[in-house]
Amino acid sequence: MKSCPIDIEQISEFFTKMNTNFELPWSPRYTQTGEAVVADEGSMAYWALAATIAFTVVVFSMEGNLDARQKDAYLQTNFPKQLEQTVSKIDHERATTTEKEETKKENEADNNKDDDASKKALLPQLQAKFQNAQSYGLDKITFGMISSSFDTLESVLFLICGFLPYIWDMSVSLGSQYFDWTESENEIKISLVFLLLTSLLGTVTSLPFELYSTFQIEKKHGFNKMTLGLFFMDKVKSTMLTFLIGGPFVALLLQIIKVGGPYFYIYVWAFMFVFSAFMMTIVPVFIMPLFNKYEPLEDGDLKKSIYALADRLEYPLTNLFVMDGSKRSSHSNAFMFGFGKNKRIVLFDTLLTQVHSNEILAILGHELGHWKLGHTVSNFVITQLYFGAAFYFFSLCYTSEELFSAFGFNDASRSTPSIIALLLFFQTLWAPVDKVLSFLLTMFSRYNEFGADRFSHELGYSAQLQSGLVKIHLENLGAMCPDPWYSMYHYSHPPLVERLSAMMAMDETKKQS
Ligand SMILES: [Zn+2]
Repeated sequence: MKSCPIDIEQISEFFTKMNTNFELPWSPRYTQTGEAVVADEGSMAYWALAATIAFTVVVFSMEGNLDARQKDAYLQTNFPKQLEQTVSKIDHERATTTEKEETKKENEADNNKDDDASKKALLPQLQAKFQNAQSYGLDKITFGMISSSFDTLESVLFLICGFLPYIWDMSVSLGSQYFDWTESENEIKISLVFLLLTSLLGTVTSLPFELYSTFQIEKKHGFNKMTLGLFFMDKVKSTMLTFLIGGPFVALLLQIIKVGGPYFYIYVWAFMFVFSAFMMTIVPVFIMPLFNKYEPLEDGDLKKSIYALADRLEYPLTNLFVMDGSKRSSHSNAFMFGFGKNKRIVLFDTLLTQVHSNEILAILGHELGHWKLGHTVSNFVITQLYFGAAFYFFSLCYTSEELFSAFGFNDASRSTPSIIALLLFFQTLWAPVDKVLSFLLTMFSRYNEFGADRFSHELGYSAQLQSGLVKIHLENLGAMCPDPWYSMYHYSHPPLVERLSAMMAMDETKKQS
């Protein structure tokens, strides 16, 4: 007689083995002492590595779940009902106002031919592009799912293998071999070598993904205008800038942490503030021109009306540029920036061809709304508070050698380098806080978008903003039926249909009053 295929003893043996393999504390393969991490039960080092890996995997599965929902949304083949109703109402409004205008124009004997194309009904255009938008979205989300799986796998493997202590020790030995540096005396220089190595590795591993996204997905859907030459030229420029600006920045930051004493977080915070202000000043003047050409908008009605709008809102507009965005992509945009009394507005050349002048004014009305309503300032303040809080908590656990030993920095005779402490802090204790805060910020950003739309509406641009938004959405093949959970978690701007509905509701209230 054959024995029972289920051998209880074997199964229990398997579980005992599993249990010993997963026993806490988990220890990375590479540690500085070469021995496994030892820690008392209940101490931070006891569960730190396991908890970090668990957290990474939980976030990955949660976000993966949202991705899968969004993917389902992109697989829908029926044009979304709510969008259809909303946009057909807009079309109806537009048709009635156009009729009125035309009778007026006939009387004035003034005919503007470029108005015809821009006054075409929007719904049929959206319906015609619906399948393209779905397929573009589907390609992007599928690619996103693959690349985030890769990222998660990479971070978990790095944690298990002890990548950080390994690269750190490698930087220490490179430093001593070539420059006679010692870890205790030249920590900052070694930190820069360490960052150089990790960022080079990061560039290499992310390169295939960037190439695929630009030259497969974006190209397939007609957006990419970049050549391989330009792509690599951009890469070289941005890598050099990272070293030129990032290097001194990190060196100063580490120096401040080193000499700042117990209240170093205050000095770090002040430094971050000065650095942000410095970057906001040099980026538009010295860095952006390295990548794009900025030419003054040519004289004409559009320029006059933009300056008039800026005047009306007391926006100190000093420069109005057109940027050659079409060099890289046919996606369109407009933005504004600048300090104090020296402000600029930049329009993508792609935007100028995609929407009508009135719609550009409406879009700028929205952008200037962000400024007038203080969103620009509040975002800056929130970022500063965020860094303040992060560095304050970092100062509390900065000396916790115990925490860092869990990740392989377990040589008691060597103190944990500040750069490692920073990296591990942001990856472990701060990571859950960061997830929650970024979600709140995304919600805040959507709330502000409605505010800026209302502002443009109050300037009298409601109809133009609605049609402008639809057109930009069309040209960029934006999602027409995003998953509600996915958009709530990821979208910094509310879905199109929500913005249009909100503006139409404002129109209604205005009519009634
Ligand atoms: Zn906005």
